[in-house]
Amino acid sequence: MSEIIIDKNAYLHNLTQISNKVGDKEKVIAVLKDNAYGHGASLMAKLASEFGIKWACVKSIKEAEEISLFFENIIVLSHIPTGDENPKFIYAINDISNLLNLKKGLKVHLAIDTMMHRNGLKLGDLQSAFEIAKKMDLKICGAYTHFRSSDEFSAEYFVQKENFEIAKARLRELFDKFNLPKGVFHSHNSAALERATDLGDELVRVGIAQFGYAQFNDSLNLKKVLSLWAHRVSKRVLAKGECVGYGGVFVASLDLDIATYDLGYGDGLLRYCGIGDLHLANGQKVLGKMSMDSFSTIDAGSKVCVFDDANVWAEFFRTISYDILVKLSKDIPRKII
Ligand SMILES: *Cc1c(COP(=O)(O)O)cnc(C)c1O
Repeated sequence: MSEIIIDKNAYLHNLTQISNKVGDKEKVIAVLKDNAYGHGASLMAKLASEFGIKWACVKSIKEAEEISLFFENIIVLSHIPTGDENPKFIYAINDISNLLNLKKGLKVHLAIDTMMHRNGLKLGDLQSAFEIAKKMDLKICGAYTHFRSSDEFSAEYFVQKENFEIAKARLRELFDKFNLPKGVFHSHNSAALERATDLGDELVRVGIAQFGYAQFNDSLNLKKVLSLWAHRVSKRVLAKGECVGYGGVFVASLDLDIATYDLGYGDGLLRYCGIGDLHLANGQKVLGKMSMDSFSTIDAGSKVCVFDDANVWAEFFRTISYDILVKLSKDIPRKII
């Protein structure tokens, strides 16, 4: 049975590094969407809450319910209003029309569009948002924005930061005008946090950095948390001239001791087509096309580490570590060491 090993010390180390940079662990919002980037949402939620994290962020009510025991505040980022929301959570307002369709009494955070143009309200919409919220009995208790290119060295991060400062000033006036307690603000994701010099009193929404992936020169000195292990299903000698797997793409140029391991694209790995060198953690290559539930490689014993750094696979497949991690099937058992 394949498995995912979660390195608890690495995770706690990363949370410490992140909290130190932010200055207060209570200002860290752990982004645990998509099964905590494939790491296992309830496992990671438990560790984060034991560490002292009070805030989490997920994409749906279903995800929020899975971790609801562990945090005082859970923000649901991508909920489409139904009128039947769980009032324990805080809902992102991605579009002003969201305010018309949510259950009365809910807490909401306004998403502010500062240049990404994916979600959120414009500066000119803020006054109406407060008016509608009042009418609909919704509690605006925070606002946030998201950077479109915090992971690229360009000036855009600074432009958005400035736009958010302008929005925050306007929001502070509106909190006052509507006699509401002053709300919380947040904007920085992992990459932005690496670049940040002054966070003011903002919270931060940290996803991938928790799991050990830096976007720049790793000023936070992060450690990878997840390693993926496959177990041996069978072994054989692949004689010189024989091929392994679908289409016979890999041909042995000498006799090889090979083995087949129990992970494939059905478990969420991207499908390797047998062309180019896709390396496992031990430096060996995947031999031939990946199957739905298995791949073959040089026999490495009863189990083999597929990766302990998702960047190796991300680079091979020309994607990002996030994409490799989130796809890992929920059915792969997760174990903490
Ligand atoms: C996913 C997400 C984050 C976390 O991003 P990382 O790059 O993983 O830190 C923060 N904010 C929003 C709105 C997100 O969707």
